[in-house]
Amino acid sequence: MTDLERHIQDIRMAFSEEIAAAETLENLDSLRVRFLGKKGEVTSLLKGLGALPPDERPRAGQFVNLLRDELEEQIRTRKDSLEEKELERLEREDHIDVTLPPRGRTGGGFHPVVETSREIIEIMAGLGFSVALGPEIEDDFYNFEALNIPPSHPARDMQDSFYFPDGKVLRTHTSPVEVRAMRAHGAPIRIVVPGKVYRRDSDPTHSPMFHQLEGLMVDTDVSIADLKGCLGALMNAFFDRPLAARYRGSYFPFTEPSLELDIECIECSGKNPSCRICKGTGWLEVAGLGMTHPDVLRAGGIDPTRYTGFAWGMGLDRMAMLKYGLTDLRVLFEGNVPYLLSGRNRSC
Ligand SMILES: [Zn+2]
Repeated sequence: MTDLERHIQDIRMAFSEEIAAAETLENLDSLRVRFLGKKGEVTSLLKGLGALPPDERPRAGQFVNLLRDELEEQIRTRKDSLEEKELERLEREDHIDVTLPPRGRTGGGFHPVVETSREIIEIMAGLGFSVALGPEIEDDFYNFEALNIPPSHPARDMQDSFYFPDGKVLRTHTSPVEVRAMRAHGAPIRIVVPGKVYRRDSDPTHSPMFHQLEGLMVDTDVSIADLKGCLGALMNAFFDRPLAARYRGSYFPFTEPSLELDIECIECSGKNPSCRICKGTGWLEVAGLGMTHPDVLRAGGIDPTRYTGFAWGMGLDRMAMLKYGLTDLRVLFEGNVPYLLSGRNRSC
């Protein structure tokens, strides 16, 4: 074996060891430069061929070329296998399983008051009522005068209402929408009006902003029996069972006669003298109602000698509290989401 052949053998062995140890594409590339680059060991061998005696050059050239081809081939093979490994690693580490459920998302839900409102609207829609909405900043006419509330009425007191400097008022009830709807659509009409209302009140059972829902039906021959039928159907559907009801005489300026509706206590049905919901009375006050006052029909542009109507109003916050077992009105407005959701889950 000539010196050259021995040298080639050494290079081959050194290369084999190093290529087996090359774990990355970067390792492999520096190996290629060291052996096959411009100043690489194999390149130097080729350059050195010129110094050999002419008769040895072809054979020596053949050996060196063979070595170069061999190393190039090994590098290609190793490169393919490293690239494949890299792909496998990426697939393993960056793998996206599209069938997994998304992380970090908690179930949302409607606010109990919104849910209560939607539920009542749905029940009333089944009885042929549609939704009417109106402005929260009202004229004196719609909020008071058209509803038969004369200027001397206590409801006009500055203590009860929020006034703007120009004399407008934050509506104190949803009733102005009744007048607006009657003026816009005439009779017959069947509407429910959900919305925010405002009064100067704040304690555990009163909030300066609260929610009401009221209903109005005007047609020929509408009687108080129709009103009782509607409200009975609404209460039974909303609380999911038939409930005893009683009507008590009352007074509202915009209805004549005026009544209040009590339903059987949904917690104890009158059987628990220390019930925290009905305070032992067995009854829950849920709505004010009555036959629409002829003056109110007139203000709505409807002839009271031809048509009669009924109306009722209820506090949506109170209905939500009863339905979802909440004890303090204020939690409805404090934005404590877990508490509100747990309240709903308690009774559903
Ligand atoms: Zn009770």
